[in-house]
Amino acid sequence: MSVQHQSRSPTPGTTSRRDFVKLTSSALAAGVLGGAARPAHAQPLLHTVSDDWNGVLVDLSVCVGCRKCEWACRKANGFGDGEPIDAYEDTSVFGQTRRTEADRFTVVNRFFPDDAGGGPVYAKKQCMHCFEPACASACLVGAFRKTPEGPVLYDSSVCIGCRYCMMACPFGVPAYTYDNALAPEVRKCTMCFERITKEGKRPACVEMCPVEALTFGKRSELVGIARQKMADHPGRYVDHIYGEHEAGGTCWLYISPVPFDQVGFRTDVGTTPYPELTKGFLSAVPMVLVMWPALLMGAYAFTEHRKRLSGAGDGAPSAPDQSEEAGHG
Ligand code: SF4
Ligand code: SF4
Ligand code: SF4
Repeated sequence: MSVQHQSRSPTPGTTSRRDFVKLTSSALAAGVLGGAARPAHAQPLLHTVSDDWNGVLVDLSVCVGCRKCEWACRKANGFGDGEPIDAYEDTSVFGQTRRTEADRFTVVNRFFPDDAGGGPVYAKKQCMHCFEPACASACLVGAFRKTPEGPVLYDSSVCIGCRYCMMACPFGVPAYTYDNALAPEVRKCTMCFERITKEGKRPACVEMCPVEALTFGKRSELVGIARQKMADHPGRYVDHIYGEHEAGGTCWLYISPVPFDQVGFRTDVGTTPYPELTKGFLSAVPMVLVMWPALLMGAYAFTEHRKRLSGAGDGAPSAPDQSEEAGHG
């Protein structure tokens, strides 16, 4: 991104928040998202992979698309107060490919792959809990961290709302609470951190799945379980464990009866950890340029807040469409 581009920035308060986010996002997009197009070449990880990391293996050949995992996730995270599980029998949601939302940390999408003999294949989506999380690497204030137990967690108390994490995530996962003007925050799947570390339970979605399409365990063992399933059922799966190496490796893994590009997965993420890809960019660009969009964002938010207080504005700007700001996985 050039300095001239920044100098043409609209005056804060005179453009929509959507335009503003797009404008400011370009500072890191060139460095962070650009990495996705690079050819795959394995790089050393920035830290040692732990055998203690937890993970989940998703078997797409077993999932029946009941969306009970979605319901359980919402309930476990305090959303959809009293929402009946029957509501999740509504299959009209499959009319479009959905992404995760601020109050919906997992979604199930339906696909009709060429290689599935006409039948549908369902794919659950949530945070992949990357070995080397791009969200954490892009965050200027350390609001994301990889825990020793495996989940990648977010701390809203230090977040400055720049949303670089949303731009950086190769799987289009983090969502933003645009409708919370006073204390907006980023949200995503936590791998049910409290349940698995303090309550000795499995994640809510895993526990709820009626067909055991989801297997919770140590990530180091899940790869072996995936391989065993492939050996036990020749021809049922393509020879690929998604997440074993993608983006440097992830704690959530998938096996599938069809190639992953036919069921909504990005197959261009490569095997290089994203922080490795962005390291050169971040060290080459002066910090003031990296910080500039965040400073502008702060100025914009402050101006909007003042307008609202003085009654000069016409209310809060319309909530931007998140899908325009974070790619789909
Ligand atoms: S999938 Fe995205 S949000 Fe989740 S850990 Fe990886 S980079 Fe972060
Ligand atoms: S692990 Fe927990 S937070 Fe993540 S998708 Fe499953 S239920 Fe939701
Ligand atoms: S609960 Fe299990 S079978 Fe149902 S949609 Fe979720 S992963 Fe698939």
